[in-house]
Amino acid sequence: MEERTVTTARTAGFCFGVKRAVDKVYEQIEQGKTPIYTYGPIIHNEEVVGDLESKGVRVIHSEEELKQLKEGTIVLRSHGVSEHIYDLIRERGLKCVDATCPFVIKIHQIVKKAAENDDEIIIIGNEDHPEVRGIRGWCKKVTPMIVADLDEAEKIVISEGKKACLVSQTTFNYNYFKEIVEIIIKNCYNISVVNTICSATEERQTEARQIARQADTMIVIGGKTSSNTQKLYEICRKECKNCYYIQTVEDLYHSDLRNAKNVGITAGASTPNKIIEEVQKYVRREF
Ligand code: SF4
Repeated sequence: MEERTVTTARTAGFCFGVKRAVDKVYEQIEQGKTPIYTYGPIIHNEEVVGDLESKGVRVIHSEEELKQLKEGTIVLRSHGVSEHIYDLIRERGLKCVDATCPFVIKIHQIVKKAAENDDEIIIIGNEDHPEVRGIRGWCKKVTPMIVADLDEAEKIVISEGKKACLVSQTTFNYNYFKEIVEIIIKNCYNISVVNTICSATEERQTEARQIARQADTMIVIGGKTSSNTQKLYEICRKECKNCYYIQTVEDLYHSDLRNAKNVGITAGASTPNKIIEEVQKYVRREF
């Protein structure tokens, strides 16, 4: 029987920041620290959050809940939080394990400095996204202008004599960021634009495209509602007609993989390694 080649993307699954955050929670569990809380779900993956819950980790959803706590450890997730949340944790005498992604911390530092200089601050991103809410909370007394699309970019006006500082949500689309910036800089003369987009998403997409191009069967693993997994699937589907979008290995049980000789595997940002490994194992032996 002809050998089957299975290629798994190096960038499949958790990005560096999310992996680091999840690992930090498990480290706290191993060290026997209790009670442990995460400020918001540590990752958008029910299985991981459920596993942590079964080990006693609770999710805090709001500042109000945080204010009720009298003891324990709070793990801050990769999205980061406002500066005053650190103050609240300190005031309550809670232990803080900061798993904010270093790329997000860099943005906090940039806007904090700009606010101290009394510069105007522009954040390119979605105002409801927790990362953007966190960044906003480092702008001190300056109210940042949040821009999500070209129409909003047209409306940006910087007060005379003021300098502006522009940053972006880390997961914003780079090409769209460039279009927005082009509009804004037409109306603002004294502006410092810092591209704070993280390359993790783009690298995952580029690698998926390359693998799918060479595969006769491509498997994309991730939640059905995960927008970054949907995007990965779209990219792979264009390159490889025999493309499966699955959530766990069980979704493959009824698929006919007999003719698959060259299988590619990739996974969205919230897919745990365990699921990727299960799929890999299954595909290697299932003829
Ligand atoms: Fe992951 Fe990049 Fe976000 Fe950090 S900034 S959590 S590496 S996507």
